Amino acid sequence: MSKILVIAEHADGAVKKATLTTLDMARQLAAKKGSSIDIAVLGSGVGGVAEALTGYGAETVHVADHAELANALAPTWGKVIADIAESCGADVIAASASTTGKDIMPRVAARLEAGMASDVVGVVDTDDGPGFRRPMWAGALLADVVIDTDTWVVTARGSAFDAAGATGGSSAVEAFDAEPNLAASRTRFVSFNGTKSDRPTLDEADIVVAGGRGLKSAEGFAQVVEPLADALGAGIGASRAAVDDGFCPNDYQIGQTGKVVAPQLYFAVAISGAIQHLAGMKNSKVIVAINTRDDEPINKVADYSLVGDAFTVIPELCEKIAAIKAAG
Ligand SMILES: Cc1cc2nc3c(=O)[nH]c(=O)nc-3n(C[C@H](O)[C@H](O)[C@H](O)COP(=O)(O)OP(=O)(O)OC[C@H]3O[C@@H](n4cnc5c(N)ncnc54)[C@H](O)[C@@H]3O)c2cc1C
Repeated sequence: MSKILVIAEHADGAVKKATLTTLDMARQLAAKKGSSIDIAVLGSGVGGVAEALTGYGAETVHVADHAELANALAPTWGKVIADIAESCGADVIAASASTTGKDIMPRVAARLEAGMASDVVGVVDTDDGPGFRRPMWAGALLADVVIDTDTWVVTARGSAFDAAGATGGSSAVEAFDAEPNLAASRTRFVSFNGTKSDRPTLDEADIVVAGGRGLKSAEGFAQVVEPLADALGAGIGASRAAVDDGFCPNDYQIGQTGKVVAPQLYFAVAISGAIQHLAGMKNSKVIVAINTRDDEPINKVADYSLVGDAFTVIPELCEKIAAIKAAG
């Protein structure tokens, strides 16, 4: 029988939303393929994460708890995921198309000689059985693909799926005797320089405020984007130009070569809306463009266009939001 192995993403002992959106994709595929679902939790000291995932309808939660898995390095995690897949007989291995999933899963596919569908946004029926819908050419078109190897590797775009809810019940938790073999991987963990912030992360935020090159400098970016994000409880994003010009950290980048988001509300501040940027945000529910011009590509996808200088209109907007909040 077919078995889908979902790879859990977690941070600081908590399950990340990326795990649950992957699980949603896996459930849709399982319904078409008649599969059962298992979950794999890798890391060091991850018993709590495994326990938290026992109520989501998986048959088994496999736990690879090993000091050498503390950081999600592609060579070690890739090896252990492939080992778990082989030992439990999974024919589909699914992870999020997050930076972690994009890094690790091609290695899993190579180890298992499996075909891979990456960044899928839907599970579809085709004449050749269940397949996957995925964007091509910066999202300019969507292709339906099938994988014709016995084993499939799939990464799911988080913004295209809902977070799977708990189903009750309790999965079996099985310890997996992992052999990450870090020394043989010729890889060494040096440091993880994550952005420390109290704001929601881009993949979890309901509202995103993104700034572009029009903000002119790191100071301009902070002066304009941060107060609006804080007034709205939003996550912060950026265009690639803003990242390349050093206005903000790399992990803020939204677009074809950055993160893909689909929040309830997206503010594009001083961003022109190049196709590569649109590829990362055009599925946002409501898009607000704030730009000195009204004829930029961003205005064509925006639900609301506020034409004006961001340095003037955003402080005014923040004042209005504060006044509304004060009025209760
Ligand atoms: C292979 C490839 C991959 C790429 N991947 C990405 C990606 O992932 N993400 C991405 O974003 N880009 C990506 N790009 C780059 C993309 O093509 C654009 O160059 C980039 O998105 C432009 O960023 P921007 O809109 O901030 O800057 P610009 O295009 O320079 O636009 C600045 C905007 O600010 C407005 N403006 C200026 N001053 C003000 C002001 N005071 N107030 C309000 N508005 C103002 C201007 O009218 C203009 O619309 C990629 C390019 C390539 C070739």
